[in-house]
Amino acid sequence: MSLGVTILGATGTIGVNTLNVIQQHRSRYRIIALTANTSVDKLYEQCLEWSPRYAVMMDADAAEQLRQRLLPINPDIEVLSGVEGLKQVASADATDIVMAAIVGGAGLLPTLAAAEAGKQVLLANKESLVMSGQVFMDAVKRHNTRLLPIDSEHNAIFQCLHGQDKVAARKILLTASGGPFREHAAEDLHDVTPEQACAHPNWVMGRKISVDSATMMNKGLEVIEACWLFETTPDHIEVLIHPQSVIHSLVEYIDGSVLAQLGNPDMRTPIAYGLAWPERIDAGVQSLDLKTIAQLSFSQPDIARFPCLRLAYEAMLAGGTTTTILNAANEIAVAAFLQTRLKFTDIAKVIETTLANLSGRAASSLEIILEDDAKARDLAQEAILRLYSSSSPLLRTA
Ligand code: NAD
Ligand code: MG
Repeated sequence: MSLGVTILGATGTIGVNTLNVIQQHRSRYRIIALTANTSVDKLYEQCLEWSPRYAVMMDADAAEQLRQRLLPINPDIEVLSGVEGLKQVASADATDIVMAAIVGGAGLLPTLAAAEAGKQVLLANKESLVMSGQVFMDAVKRHNTRLLPIDSEHNAIFQCLHGQDKVAARKILLTASGGPFREHAAEDLHDVTPEQACAHPNWVMGRKISVDSATMMNKGLEVIEACWLFETTPDHIEVLIHPQSVIHSLVEYIDGSVLAQLGNPDMRTPIAYGLAWPERIDAGVQSLDLKTIAQLSFSQPDIARFPCLRLAYEAMLAGGTTTTILNAANEIAVAAFLQTRLKFTDIAKVIETTLANLSGRAASSLEIILEDDAKARDLAQEAILRLYSSSSPLLRTA
């Protein structure tokens, strides 16, 4: 019997890579649902190819357009919309596996619905853990949910921990490429453009995570993600700059052994691992050619040039909804940067200001998390307006 797969965020980079792996194993999986935000054309094409039982567009108008286009061609596909539609397909009976690949906080409710329905959850949407780690992991435990990390670093750590006694692990070494501005001097970071920030040296990714990689907030979010996934604390996680992105992360044990997972920087490897776990399937990824790569190098991150990494560590140590606030402010700041309403170096300032203006509290319920998320988004918007109110030359209109 084939396994039913729902892909939340099917039209994104992770969604498309997931379909690519499934394409290579069509007898093993069947697509139950594909979802997208607003890209009707892309989801329409995917529906024609995969004939899912459901297609969900977050946007209601987009859903109506998709419905009208599919009706004469494939009337069996049920088109749903909004967060209720996303939650419905994430927990549908026919779904065995949910790939959680929506970007940002919008992924939280559908991913949580999948966890609460006890599905096998392949977690790419790191923001859901950053926003609501305790609530999310409680749901995973309560419903005996199989949670498999898709973020390449966390997938690597998961593989290095496999079958080992976690107590025997001394620390996690989380590798980071350093992003496109790894070699930039601090003064050269002021005027970098969204196009430069999105041109990642090793990975092809969506625009939000590309900017996060450029500020190194991505690594900060990943430290928080690792704390929740592997039940550890920030002082047991060391970030290591490794520009080749060949070692995806490492675990050091108390006997001095260090285990690493290596591979070409291709997200199809962790995706295939998550889909087939505990087996392995061909991901269509090329063999790693270490002779050609020849050298692997490592260095310490520069917190002064990349303050977002420090902010994330501090937020995790503060605990509660502080990481919810960090995530929300970051999403607002990154969106403003991508719209050229905010300078690259002001992303960290907006986050720091928001954290200073709103104290975190115990993240004891989803309601509290959503409330602080909304407040932080408003405060971050205000911070952006205030930042430029008296000095319009900072505004770029390119
Ligand atoms: P992307 O921007 O390429 O795709 C995002 C997907 O989410 C799209 O299908 C889009 O339609 C959907 N979406 C966006 N906003 C939405 C909303 N408000 N409601 C519902 N759906 C919405 O992003 P990506 O690069 O595929 O990343 C997806 C997630 O995976 C992110 O959380 C990212 O951090 C994580 N991740 C990505 C990579 C990577 O290599 N791309 C690696 C590790 C982790
Ligand atoms: Mg990663």
